[in-house]
Amino acid sequence: MAQKRKISDEKRQFKDSWELRFLVKEQSGRVLCLICNEMISVMKEYNVQRHYSTLHVTGYDKYTGEARRALLNDLKSKLRVRQEKIFQLVKPSSSTTIASYDVSLLMAKSKKAFSDGDLIKRCAIAMGKAMGFNNAAREFEKIPLSHQTVARRVEELSNFVQEKVMNQIQQCVYFSLALDESTDIRDVSQLLVFVRSIDSQFNVSEEFLGLLPLFTTTKGSDIYEALNSLVSKYGGFQKCSYIVTDGAKSMTGAKRGVIAYLRDAGVDGPMFHCIIHQELLSGRCIRLSDVMQHVMKIINFIRGGNKALRHRLFVDFLRDLDTEFSDVSLHSTVRWLSAGKCLQQSSVCVMRF
Ligand SMILES: [Zn+2]
Repeated sequence: MAQKRKISDEKRQFKDSWELRFLVKEQSGRVLCLICNEMISVMKEYNVQRHYSTLHVTGYDKYTGEARRALLNDLKSKLRVRQEKIFQLVKPSSSTTIASYDVSLLMAKSKKAFSDGDLIKRCAIAMGKAMGFNNAAREFEKIPLSHQTVARRVEELSNFVQEKVMNQIQQCVYFSLALDESTDIRDVSQLLVFVRSIDSQFNVSEEFLGLLPLFTTTKGSDIYEALNSLVSKYGGFQKCSYIVTDGAKSMTGAKRGVIAYLRDAGVDGPMFHCIIHQELLSGRCIRLSDVMQHVMKIINFIRGGNKALRHRLFVDFLRDLDTEFSDVSLHSTVRWLSAGKCLQQSSVCVMRF
């Protein structure tokens, strides 16, 4: 196996001549394109040149000599102005609260522990100091991000969303529900409920209504009980016009399925199943087997069964080639939605070979 290249090799150092040739600038050990403000991930001449020649060569190659130098200086000064603007914090007290809510929302969306707020704050302070924005770093210190604060903020945001959904359902004329039950990695069954409502002005809104864990059995009656208690909080089934479910027997069963219990409870209107995952259904019909079969064969050769050594060697090989993806994902027919990702990874790897 060829010796691995090190990041610190001289090939990966920023060359001053690139500034004029490709209109880029070195920033915190990376290359920043001054035209589109994008960071070029690998500091190699090939990557910088590729970025410039694919995106900007038509618009900027006409500038040569003195004109190009002037353009470079102009772009640099524009960048400075932009960076100063970002860090001008106008109203410290209110903007720290807004920042605290914004960070809490991002943390909740990316499923981070509430205690990470403190780390994020320290990172922001370190970044501010490293880039020479000492005033901004001092302001970052004032942002309240303790785990209690983040927990409180997330709760407030969640209550706000819940109130919004509550208002929408109370003011709507009709609503429909989509139910899907699946099992999570801890083997707890989770019932997902989505609601779509329409008001008298024909405004349609679609919201996530709730995630109901079913800890014991997942019979039709269990799902019905959970669903009923959730919908009761929003005013019951009176305005419900339409229900779609997944295709499980506990949902669709004529006697003991959720649909049967709903009918017994007097819920009217059409009830369909299996139209939630339309991609999956159409995928089964289209049968993209020609390409997929070969890709699956290759992936199974690398990853399937007890092939840990082969898989390790393959990952090492990809590392040597410096490819975009460091591995291929295992694909199976059950996870049909992962097919796109599998194909993309494989095509990128094949192109590199
Ligand atoms: Zn660019």
